[in-house]
Amino acid sequence: MDIFMKKWKALFNYVETEQKKAIYTLQEKGVLDKDYFDPHVLSFTYIARQVQLRYEKMELENNITPYYYRLAATNPRNMANRATEHEANILNKFRSGELSRYTEVKERDGKRFFVNYNPIDRTDKSCMKCHSDPAKAPKDLIKRYGAVAGFGDKVGGIRAMVIMEIPIDEIEKEALNNFASTSAVILFIFIGAYIFIGVLMRKEHELQKLNTVLEARSNTDGLTGISNRRLFDRHLEQQWRAMKRKKGSISLIFCDIDNFKIYNDTYRHIAGDECLSAIASAVTKKANRPSDLAARYGGEEFAVILPDTKLNAATQIAESMRQAVVDLDIPHEKSETSNCVTISIGVATMRPEINTDSRDKLIDTADKLLYSAKKRGKNQVAYD
Ligand code: GH3
Ligand code: MG
Ligand code: MG
Repeated sequence: MDIFMKKWKALFNYVETEQKKAIYTLQEKGVLDKDYFDPHVLSFTYIARQVQLRYEKMELENNITPYYYRLAATNPRNMANRATEHEANILNKFRSGELSRYTEVKERDGKRFFVNYNPIDRTDKSCMKCHSDPAKAPKDLIKRYGAVAGFGDKVGGIRAMVIMEIPIDEIEKEALNNFASTSAVILFIFIGAYIFIGVLMRKEHELQKLNTVLEARSNTDGLTGISNRRLFDRHLEQQWRAMKRKKGSISLIFCDIDNFKIYNDTYRHIAGDECLSAIASAVTKKANRPSDLAARYGGEEFAVILPDTKLNAATQIAESMRQAVVDLDIPHEKSETSNCVTISIGVATMRPEINTDSRDKLIDTADKLLYSAKKRGKNQVAYD
């Protein structure tokens, strides 16, 4: 369809703007007589038909169903261009303004054609020389076609129409090609988008995993593998508020390894680290509830948060922690307390609902009680 329209435009433009202009210039210069007329170079309709015939021959030779086009008029100079009754009907509807274009499907020689009717541009002054009054027309024109056929037009009228017949199988082939290439493009876009989204999702998943790892790492003590001071502070704040709402008690256990400096001096620092880790896991194992949290608070100090736990229960847990360390039976021959490593513990309990804003006091009390356990001889639990 596209090729057809381009073919048509090229032909029209060539005749109208190149050929006619050249002839008129020659007439002005006196090279050609002013009554000169030759349909081979001056009639668009004539040339159109010749080109059509040549194309048709070429297309048939190459096994291509030809596209047909012709001009049809009710009063043509060449009877080959005379509109049939059906075509005249359509042309008259263009003239009356009832139609601006018309299409239909027609069958010829067992082939279906899509037929498109379009009126040619309305006649203007330049058309009048050859199409209005025979007296004004070039004599050569009258000689060839007579003084009736093709005359009698007025400025603004519609002289003829262009009829294009396009084989439907060609349109279908073109549509199918378009459909195939469009589908391929859409498919390509979909696959591209699918891969892109897949990559994004994988990256997102990797990022989430990395975040989880980083988050866990930032809350974990590197040496012992239990929670660090950062998570301890956050958890205490959360649980303090939760217990305030719940009107519950919160207990805090503070542990410190006894005579650890001498331990390091005796068994060297690496053994000291191993001892620290063993005690960290022994203490952590005794804090069983999901809301409990055991953390390394400082060098060889551990703190355990026990939400919703009264002093009595917290003291029992503290005692079980002290015993668990004794049960580890880590030799400490230079200890002034025992022949194995021991810990001292301070236990404090508060009700956040009553002791509002005394979170620091809870830590302070637990720390003071730990100090008094040390003073009383170590390897023991002190509580209020
Ligand atoms: P006390 O019974 O009064 O608690 O005496 P202590 O010697 O345990 O107390 P002090 O605070 O004087 O010493 C704590 C020691 O803990 C000092 C340091 O050598 C040791 N320490 C702290 N952090 C680490 C650690 O990460 N690894 C090792 N191996 N030792 C540590
Ligand atoms: Mg200490
Ligand atoms: Mg100590």
